[in-house]
Amino acid sequence: MMLTLLISGPKQPGNDIDVYLEPLIDDLKSLWDGIGGVYDAHNGEYFTLRAALMWTINDFPAYGNLSGCVVKGYKACPICGDDTPSHRLKNGHKICYIGHRKWLPINHPYRRQRAAFNAKPEYGTHPEPLTGEEVLHMVEDGDRVCWKKKSIFFDLEYWKYLPVRHVLDVMHIEKNVCDSIIGTLLEIPGKNKDGIAARLDLLNMGVKTDLQPEYGERRTRLPPGPWNLSRAEKREVCNSFYGMKVPEGYSSNIKNLVSLQDSRLLGLKSHDCHTLMQQLLPVAIRSVLEKPASLIIEIISIQLHSLFQGHLRSLLILQIRDVRSCSHPRRSPWPVLRAFDSSFMPSSFSCGRSRVRGRIKLELQPI
Ligand SMILES: [Zn+2]
Repeated sequence: MMLTLLISGPKQPGNDIDVYLEPLIDDLKSLWDGIGGVYDAHNGEYFTLRAALMWTINDFPAYGNLSGCVVKGYKACPICGDDTPSHRLKNGHKICYIGHRKWLPINHPYRRQRAAFNAKPEYGTHPEPLTGEEVLHMVEDGDRVCWKKKSIFFDLEYWKYLPVRHVLDVMHIEKNVCDSIIGTLLEIPGKNKDGIAARLDLLNMGVKTDLQPEYGERRTRLPPGPWNLSRAEKREVCNSFYGMKVPEGYSSNIKNLVSLQDSRLLGLKSHDCHTLMQQLLPVAIRSVLEKPASLIIEIISIQLHSLFQGHLRSLLILQIRDVRSCSHPRRSPWPVLRAFDSSFMPSSFSCGRSRVRGRIKLELQPI
């Protein structure tokens, strides 16, 4: 049974959500102990009804409110905790979490690359996620650097024994990734991750020298990246989307999302982003984007598809087995993220994209 909770309005309860969850926790405690005398109309008999909460499905900010984990700032990775590799971009004025190649296979070529990432190679092994008992021990002992509070769910006696307690909504993350890619390709104001600030940050970090600003006598030139499209190419991409015909019920009418006048996609919903990322975007950009960037977007698309296809099953297995076994390379989000990291700007990899990196277990919504 899925219990849905939607908190609307400009003011959300934030960390005070525990107050609103108390009645639910009381009911869950009763259900765990068992409620006798429930009638089964199908079999015509009375039985004791028992139920347990398996996990919560939410976005990353809500994960912080429900679990009590810090999800902003320099230590926003729930797995790395105190050792979160984070870097504040001087010109972009945001924190990026570049430096999570430890989750890749030990011989992966990205681990040795410097210029495409943060000018450093990355070796070693990744930290293991904390178990529920370890988390409870930390929050009760006052070691709260990465924890804001003790989650109310620990009042459930079985909660600390669950290997997966919170899962992130993958479609939400996929929309953020899609918005960043489309915004950067079509240079949509407010969504574009490229620009003078991003290029100056490359200069500060000493990476991607071919994309750093070139200072001339009279003006500064930004070398075009493989994702920069001319006006005619943007029009061609938009025309591709405008002319796409898909089967009934496959997605909303893509034509309505395209603004041909200013070469933009407008009003993308989660499911639109899902179809774009999984199938339509690689087709639309194939003819106009230079090969490496086009290939990277195709890889991201294929990996996301693989993640969606296989993750629900792995999650169910995980809840029964150990969470630490969740590192099947073909189902892991890490190759997707590292491909994204190596090809686009560090600022593309802010908290939005790093939600996947948190390596909290992922969940997919019914589509
Ligand atoms: Zn981390």
